Amino acid sequence: MSLESLIGNTIRPDVREVKSYHVQDPSGYIKLDAMENPYHLHQALRQELGQRLADVAINRYPPSYDGLRRRIAASLGVPAGYDVLLGNGSDELISIMATACARQDRRAVLLAPVPAFVMFQRSAQFAGMDFVGVPLNDDFSLDLPAMLAAIAEHKPALVFLAYPNNPTGNLFDTAAVEQILAALGDTGLAVLDEAYEPFAQQSFMPRLPEFDNLIVMRTLSKLGLAGIRLGYMSAAPALLAEFDKVRPPYNVNVMTQAAAEFALDHLDILNEQAALLRQQRTELSQALAALPGVTVYPSAANFILIRVADADTTHTKLLAHKILIKNLSKMHSVLTNCLRITVSTPEENAAFLDALKASLAD
Ligand code: PMP
Repeated sequence: MSLESLIGNTIRPDVREVKSYHVQDPSGYIKLDAMENPYHLHQALRQELGQRLADVAINRYPPSYDGLRRRIAASLGVPAGYDVLLGNGSDELISIMATACARQDRRAVLLAPVPAFVMFQRSAQFAGMDFVGVPLNDDFSLDLPAMLAAIAEHKPALVFLAYPNNPTGNLFDTAAVEQILAALGDTGLAVLDEAYEPFAQQSFMPRLPEFDNLIVMRTLSKLGLAGIRLGYMSAAPALLAEFDKVRPPYNVNVMTQAAAEFALDHLDILNEQAALLRQQRTELSQALAALPGVTVYPSAANFILIRVADADTTHTKLLAHKILIKNLSKMHSVLTNCLRITVSTPEENAAFLDALKASLAD
């Protein structure tokens, strides 16, 4: 038996063709590539967390997460009467939505502006949906006529809008989002992916009662808990009940549940860190804008997009300076020569700026 023919006979051709999601080993690097919160918790708090985790019953399957769900809804701005569904990161929620909307009788469509967060397309593909990407304008705003035309043509079951958008960092125009919601009517759902909400401080969450076809998705990752993997989404209760059927049992493990409860007890600290990062975003943007040959784009997220003369060379030189950022130059034509930098501590931002200056000079 040949393993090659075994794989050929079993694994889908489109799966065989793609590469696994690559996570670079960050050892020895200043890590500014993944939009993490650079601040760790104080030693005393870490010990308290350790105590809580020590008491968790890891010999049992996770209990229902109703308590955590209610707490998230109450403390993170979910409107009264609305519940949340929890996922192993918002990545899992994206996949749950795609799985629930993919059909066996015909191809269902997931539509998103591009460039966008790569998991929108991946989850659509793996669930068996068609992905339609509508290019953003050169200033990264939504091309509303093109979006509306694509909605009329493809009748997408799901439209994903990251708000603010990754990797461009901007918030889309509110009126444009409203028009998309109206155009979808009762044939499609609009998912506002608010992963970066702590840095944007603008949200569609309070507006859930206005739109039956609106889903708002968020995560604890960017707030400082990327390691525990907890995403949440809210929508009309009847819709959430449908998605809940697709959710794998026990998808939020006991350690994550306990760590999330702990984080909610100390939400003020995480919110202060987000405020610090917003301040540092302003400072880093200004410092970058002062560099000749660097274009800086406005950001409502915890990362900054810049354009340089030669992104590949600058990226390689930064790696040599032990700085890890994301080179987006090949992702999409509107991002030619663009690099994305996660906003970090003043020390790490300064180290990055020094390395960037050196990289641009030689
Ligand atoms: N949505 C967007 C727009 C993102 O940029 C990311 C992470 N890069 C995610 C979702 C995934 O978040 P999580 O860690 O909750 O899976």
